Amino acid sequence: MRMSQLLMPTLRETPAEAEIVSHQLLLRAGYIRRSSAGIYHYLPLAHRVLQKIMAIVREEMNKAGGQEILMPIVQPAELWQESGRWQVYGDELFRLKDRHDRDFCLSPTHEEIVTDLVRSTVRSYRDLPLSVYQIANKYRDERRPRFGLMRGREFIMKDQYSFDRDEAGLDQAYQTMYEAYKRVFTRCGLTFRPVEADAGAIGGAGGTHEFMVLAESGEASLVYCDACDYAANVEKAECQAPALAENVTEFPLEKKSTPGQKTIEQVAAFLAVAPATTIKTLVYRADDQLVMVLVRGDRELNEIKLGNLLGCLELRMATDVECQEAQLGPVGFLGPIGVQAVSIYADQEVMALTDAVVGANETDMHWVHVLPGRDFSVTAVADLRMIEVGEPCPACGAPLQAARGIEVGQVFKLGTKYSKALGCTYLDEKGQENPMVMGCYGIGVSRTMAATVEQNYDEHGIIWPLAIAPFGVVVVPVSNKDEGQMAAAQEIYEQLKLSGWDVLLDDRAERPGVKFKDADLIGIPLRVTVGNKLASDGVVELKVRKTGEQFLLQREEVLSKIN
Ligand code: ATP
Ligand code: MG
Ligand code: MG
Ligand code: MG
Repeated sequence: MRMSQLLMPTLRETPAEAEIVSHQLLLRAGYIRRSSAGIYHYLPLAHRVLQKIMAIVREEMNKAGGQEILMPIVQPAELWQESGRWQVYGDELFRLKDRHDRDFCLSPTHEEIVTDLVRSTVRSYRDLPLSVYQIANKYRDERRPRFGLMRGREFIMKDQYSFDRDEAGLDQAYQTMYEAYKRVFTRCGLTFRPVEADAGAIGGAGGTHEFMVLAESGEASLVYCDACDYAANVEKAECQAPALAENVTEFPLEKKSTPGQKTIEQVAAFLAVAPATTIKTLVYRADDQLVMVLVRGDRELNEIKLGNLLGCLELRMATDVECQEAQLGPVGFLGPIGVQAVSIYADQEVMALTDAVVGANETDMHWVHVLPGRDFSVTAVADLRMIEVGEPCPACGAPLQAARGIEVGQVFKLGTKYSKALGCTYLDEKGQENPMVMGCYGIGVSRTMAATVEQNYDEHGIIWPLAIAPFGVVVVPVSNKDEGQMAAAQEIYEQLKLSGWDVLLDDRAERPGVKFKDADLIGIPLRVTVGNKLASDGVVELKVRKTGEQFLLQREEVLSKIN
């Protein structure tokens, strides 16, 4: 590729809206452009990186027995009603209507539709196990789309679904995928850890692991042990921490009816039923349903903030709270079946709490603008201890370490949750009908690209690992007016291309400083500079972006040195 023809709109200034390095650099280096909040164009350089990540993903998924398909993104509400998630998924689901006023959504994930596909195409135990995957856009109307590709509203995911006859089959499928995921992220050049996690919104009773790229900018907190393999996200670690069950305390609170918003201190005081280092989840009962309200936030802050104050509270609705139209936050199945979680976003801002929507998972069972403490009374609290660094590892007792991570993938044992709900069954050897046992496995392809930048950059720009670099080499003639340099650069460029390299030729009429800066900014792993030493000594320079190492080579040696 000739750089003079490349659509690479680099920026001089770091865009003000970009808070983290990957967002800044991908914008500045001309990889992405924002279209609307959380929705991006992938320009040629980004497209090439994505293609390389996808190629690695495809290779590993195929090797692991996956069959690639492509499923609809626009999905009928009926399927989501069958699984119960039409109600449960909340505002994160992009909903739309067709001209006949029928409800559809843009798929945030594909459990429903793949289960529908398989129930109508697979009947016999002989057709199992089956594992299908796709690489496609996903749509989630994230409450806070941010950090560029990291948390988009339209993003690229590899999602895969396994169907087995029994739990043992699922265990095997899960293990195969777990190993395949390790290979994918290793090949992408990432430093990562698989961590035990909670099932969250997708649900299912079985185990789950998240693959976390270690980075300070990560939104997830995790703990791990250097002495053994134990690693878990903090939510999971807290559930595993000892002393959870015994530690149930009564915290009677007065019901107040003062209108208006509370200050952070007042809200914190209300929720300060335990030390600031306690994680809490609010649970309340509305009619006969228990509703769990998660309150989570920035645990790094020392001040009392809602996020530091999570717990299991049983709340009773005050009788004078007005019942409003249904409105749900992102919701998931947590804990025992029938317990729904409603995020009230208290991790974002305290203001949000005053706008909280709570209620049962049913139409007309929701209240808006409620305030726990004002509108609820609290009767019981089960403390979940916050895990501290240095605490003994639950597996081996060695001191635990903490880190921040970016979730780039997750593997789930779904079990029969969706197959039972949608009637996805097979006939066994005896002609008996059984629900298929499912697993699902996601990789955030576009997020992986951003996460790679979070781990691979310096003050000059991105430093791509060779395996997913948009181009492996850039050839830079110092002066494109110098015919000798241009001819040699061109020849090296052609040779490298012939031997299978993705090569960029900087044939732009720019000063050498600009060319070098851009090569560093866009992060090409190797740079071949054809300058004045060519005419005098027949020599060109090879520079390694990552280490800064430089080699002077005869121009004929470039190919053998690079290969
Ligand atoms: P998160 O906890 O960050 O919201 P998630 O657990 O909701 O992610 P999954 O449902 O497990 O995400 O989806 C599989 C993968 O898709 C995630 O591991 C992540 O890499 C990617 N992903 C999820 N949400 C987004 C998003 N908004 N933007 C980009 N990638 C995403
Ligand atoms: Mg999410
Ligand atoms: Mg997650
Ligand atoms: Mg996840």
